[in-house]
Amino acid sequence: MLIDNHNRVINYLRLAVTDRCNLRCNYCMPSEGIDFAKKDKLLSTAELSKIGELMVQMGIDKIRITGGEPFVRKDLMTLLRNLRNNSGLKDISITTNATLIGPHIDELKALGIKDVNVSMDAINKATFERITRRDHFDTVHNNLIRLITEGFNVRINFIVLDGQNVEDIIPMLDLQKHYPVNVRFLEEMPFNGGSKKFNSIKWDYKAILAHIRKTYPEIELVQSPITSTSINYKITGHKGNFGLIPSFSRTFCGSCNRLRITALGDVITCLYGPPKINLREIVRSNSPDDNIKDAIRNVIGKRAKTGFEAQKEHKGVFDNSMTSIGG
Ligand code: SAM
Ligand code: SF4
Repeated sequence: MLIDNHNRVINYLRLAVTDRCNLRCNYCMPSEGIDFAKKDKLLSTAELSKIGELMVQMGIDKIRITGGEPFVRKDLMTLLRNLRNNSGLKDISITTNATLIGPHIDELKALGIKDVNVSMDAINKATFERITRRDHFDTVHNNLIRLITEGFNVRINFIVLDGQNVEDIIPMLDLQKHYPVNVRFLEEMPFNGGSKKFNSIKWDYKAILAHIRKTYPEIELVQSPITSTSINYKITGHKGNFGLIPSFSRTFCGSCNRLRITALGDVITCLYGPPKINLREIVRSNSPDDNIKDAIRNVIGKRAKTGFEAQKEHKGVFDNSMTSIGG
């Protein structure tokens, strides 16, 4: 079992498989993109599989595949097959923009990968395309409905962006009236590749809840697992629940159970902090498995207590993009 220096069990790995993406969401990166990593700096499928397997041996029981956009990686399904068949891990999930998932839905189902988070920050086509700077709304919408109707556990991640998609909060929530889907509203974080700097946000989780209550005054709080980052609610008559994720306010650090490994092999022990070690060269130098595990245990033993504490470890304001961290 992996336990950090604040007695938190770490059992959840967010594994990024690429920093590239076919969208350019304006809260995530500038329109011209970021300085994407050279291919040889990205972990190969074999390296990702090995790291996944070692992490499972160490006590990780849930891996979420993220990016960048995971499905821009042509060999993604090979990695998923490896993780499913070799690591013994049951809980594999994916966060995706749902533009490219269509051809893989049947195989995901066959592999038993049923938890899919779809990032969709607008239900209005023009708003969606303004935010993502690409015209893929119809594909995303079709894939979303297909995933839901084929029985996947789908959660929609919706970042509330001042002046951009506030009008879409209620229509997006209303999807839950008709479909068993959970919509989660997230606070915007300052990981946008330097395109916008801010130290406070207007749409924090309290403001989002107050906005929703104007339309739905009768909202019921739902009990959530202690490690959940979302505060979850039910609206009578809705098929799904909705959640608020205080990703900027950071109210959930006390029970944080997650570790991040980026597509370049950086180990990030707190979303708000800088990387602690890079596994790529350690893995490429054919280090014994125990050395790799020790390196990981070592940084888990020095985790910042909160995101605010971790943020101080950055020199100056951070200007990295979520596409290179994985969300
Ligand atoms: N491309 C995939 C997607 O969009 O779902 C996976 C990677 S994306 C970086 C992972 C998550 O991070 C998405 O839900 C996205 O909305 C979220 N995200 C990106 N930039 C963010 C920001 N500045 N603040 C809050 N969430 C952000
Ligand atoms: Fe791509 Fe996801 Fe970032 Fe949007 S949020 S630009 S889909 S990585």
